[in-house]
Amino acid sequence: MASITFDKVTKLFPGTDKPAVQTLDLHIEDGEFLVLVGPSGCGKSTSLRMLAGLEDVDDGRILIGDDDVTDVDPKDRDIAMVFQNYALYPHMSVAENMGFALKLAGVPKTDIADRVAEAARILDLGDYLDRKPKALSGGQRQRVAMGRAIVRSPRVFLMDEPLSNLDAKLRVATRTQIASLQARLGTTTVYVTHDQVEAMTMGDRVAVLRGGVLQQCAAPRELYDAPANRFVAGFMGSPAMNLVSVPVVDGGVSLAGLVVPATRDAVGARDTVVVGVRPEHIEVRPLDSADGIEATVDVIEELGSEAHVFAHVIAPDGARIDVVARADASAPPRKGDRVRLLPDTSRAHLFEDSESGVR
Ligand code: ATP
Repeated sequence: MASITFDKVTKLFPGTDKPAVQTLDLHIEDGEFLVLVGPSGCGKSTSLRMLAGLEDVDDGRILIGDDDVTDVDPKDRDIAMVFQNYALYPHMSVAENMGFALKLAGVPKTDIADRVAEAARILDLGDYLDRKPKALSGGQRQRVAMGRAIVRSPRVFLMDEPLSNLDAKLRVATRTQIASLQARLGTTTVYVTHDQVEAMTMGDRVAVLRGGVLQQCAAPRELYDAPANRFVAGFMGSPAMNLVSVPVVDGGVSLAGLVVPATRDAVGARDTVVVGVRPEHIEVRPLDSADGIEATVDVIEELGSEAHVFAHVIAPDGARIDVVARADASAPPRKGDRVRLLPDTSRAHLFEDSESGVR
């Protein structure tokens, strides 16, 4: 097993003018489950493929343990990769698929059989070893792809959106299985997804990428509670954090007339800042309550355990501000209702009103 280090790694594809990955600095601990997350095109797969050796590095170094593998052949990196499409050999049985890499490596037949049987036991594939991939369900194929990685006992697992071909329910079940399997095996794992829920639930730490640039790498709770910038704040969490550009006033910032306290240190000499409030930190109250900002409910999403209230506020300057709040499922307001929204200002985040949007 081993740690992984991206040391100022840059990738610029020929014919493009912006790096797909830019000066990436990231250290992944031995045994850690690290998730790379971000919107489409942010450089997640390219980072993973460079680590796998499937893509050249233009600048910087990649280390596995203490070994500089930047120019090492993929087959000599001691990694196993699970792809989105599983890349199973259609003419081989499940057992042959799982053992193929070992066979190529010249491992004796009886050892291969033992290791395949052990992986099949862990993944509950024992009844399917003689079947061809086309006779398996999507979830079973996914497990065969995992099994093929496990039997090699590599130093590192790399997974590129391995759940994206499964239906929603199976995806939720499988993400728990993968996370607990990884914890049991203790193999350093880098996992790519565009799904922030998958990232939050699976990763020991989550690295958020945007436009090829690492925005923040932290434990899920820290990303959620202390996002480094406006982008991370808006990306992690569903429904997304409410982010509103507001004027700085005496003693704080003005959110549709409600003063969110902020020190001069926090807001500096700026005229405006962006206030961020998570939906669960906004209380929805009846219109006749003493506190809160008057709003009109546009849409209610009932989820059984809770309700998402999409509403809008008209600011003193006449601007419309769309807001989403989480409400108790037992008595949500109705579409068209006039309500009051009371943000917990002690939980509000302040970001610079700029492209970087730093906290
Ligand atoms: P997705 O979630 O859509 O797979 P991603 O975050 O994995 O996205 P990458 O596949 O790493 O993104 O791509 C990063 C950027 O590099 C994108 O702008 C993409 O268009 C570009 N890119 C990827 N592969 C190549 C290539 N072979 N040639 C040129 N540009 C490429």
